[in-house]
Amino acid sequence: MDTRTKNYLQQFGVSEATQHFLSRPRKLFIGGAWQDASDGASADVIEPSSEGVLGRIPMGTADDLDHAVQAARAQFDGGPWRQLKPLERERLLHRLADLIEANADELAEIESIDMGKSVTQARAVDIQGTIDTFRYFAGWASKIHGRTVEPSLPGNYLAYTRKEPVGVVGVIVPWNFPLQTMAWKLGAALAVGCTVVVKPAELTSLSALRFAELVQEAGIPGGVVNIVTGRGSVVGAAMASHPGIDKLSFTGSTPVGCSVGKAAMDQMKRLTLELGGKSPVIVLADADLKAAAQAVANGVFFNSGQVCDAGTRAYVHRSVYAEFLRELADYTATLKIAPGLDPDCFISPMVSREQQQRVLAYIEAGKAEGAELFYGGEPVEGPGFFVQPTIFANCRNDMRIVQEEIFGPVLVTAPFDDEEEVLALANDSPFGLAAALYSNDLGRVHSLIPRLRAGSVYVNAHSTIDPSMPFGGYKQSGYGKDLGAEQLEYLLETKAVWITLP
Ligand code: NAD
Repeated sequence: MDTRTKNYLQQFGVSEATQHFLSRPRKLFIGGAWQDASDGASADVIEPSSEGVLGRIPMGTADDLDHAVQAARAQFDGGPWRQLKPLERERLLHRLADLIEANADELAEIESIDMGKSVTQARAVDIQGTIDTFRYFAGWASKIHGRTVEPSLPGNYLAYTRKEPVGVVGVIVPWNFPLQTMAWKLGAALAVGCTVVVKPAELTSLSALRFAELVQEAGIPGGVVNIVTGRGSVVGAAMASHPGIDKLSFTGSTPVGCSVGKAAMDQMKRLTLELGGKSPVIVLADADLKAAAQAVANGVFFNSGQVCDAGTRAYVHRSVYAEFLRELADYTATLKIAPGLDPDCFISPMVSREQQQRVLAYIEAGKAEGAELFYGGEPVEGPGFFVQPTIFANCRNDMRIVQEEIFGPVLVTAPFDDEEEVLALANDSPFGLAAALYSNDLGRVHSLIPRLRAGSVYVNAHSTIDPSMPFGGYKQSGYGKDLGAEQLEYLLETKAVWITLP
């Protein structure tokens, strides 16, 4: 760790548990054992608030991925995991949730210094969401069942279906909610009896490695959960085309999702893709403007806009557009821009210099395309990869800043005159992850909900996410669902059994 980062951790009094974690060497977790990358390669982890080096993580190889798949395969095909009674799996998942809860503050600090995010938000959202997800799916372990059927075929048969775990699940996750997105995939997979190989994002692998220690401590057998850190183009690509993986569950950008999806389909792997978004927000004239402005700002600037279902396009009724923009600016000015470990931080740095530059380039593109810069858009003094929360006004739908996913704290807005017009604007996007409506007119709200092409619709709120509700996109935002009872279907095969009776 370099001095800048050491000073930063000291300034905010990072816990002894986190310091101890950082002092341990990082290794891959394969078959219940810790090992270096097969070629010994590793890479620096950059802390986004101080811009210093936090430590190193192993850069796994295709060979490492193969060993992890073999370990997961052996455990699934003949290991004790498959023999466990459902209530025993349920008990282990609750034990894991208890351990995550007991170490929640440490995990929140790790997530904050690895990704840059607000430690307060990490504790309340990422870590709490992880605990809730394991608890919710633990309960499903003992509630998976098929059905008996009465066939009309001549003859006498006992006909029934069995639900069986799909097998070894390959999990690839992004850097914006590292632990939580992994939990979304592992909770359901482990509950139904699958084994998993995880490839965290190369920018944010630390919480997955701490999680692996807790998996061990919970007494989950070796090989059930395997973690191979490394590059997407190496470990991720090897996972997508590995014949030992039965199902690929990917969260990340649409272009990469498309490429891993094609590789997976070459082997008929089962597939879930949770991809990008450019979610519209519609503010009707009757909305409570102050409350709506606050919710819209939170819905786009949370995690500094690095959120897949962030409400990044706001269409506001022309009669209240000017007032709404004023409320939005007043509220946005109260959001504290600060290092992630500052307990009052709301706007944290971007995950990396590259992401910061990408977002700043979009802001320049917006200005060049003629969008009116209404708020922010100025550089923020470092250290830290910060971008000011930024609001554009009077945007046109054909602008790049309206069509493309920026993945930073940038909101584009435009006025509208009638509902047909705003529906066309909202649906004019290749993405379809989420949408939000602000209004208290129930009739209008209910008539708009079915016409929005989005996997989630939030009314007078944004990103209300719970493990009991499915999450996943329409159009180019995804394929399949995570969370809710719906997710289980993507992790189970259905076997039809016919028994001829005398
Ligand atoms: P990304 O697509 O660049 O990377 C995601 C993961 O894929 C990483 O682990 C990366 O290493 C891996 N990867 C990269 N190239 C690969 C390849 N050729 N083969 C296999 N794996 C490869 O995305 P990102 O920049 O990490 O995350 C941001 C994106 O994730 C945004 O588009 C965001 O909308 C999306 N996202 C979607 C959801 C959702 O639930 N729909 C949730 C969070 C993030």
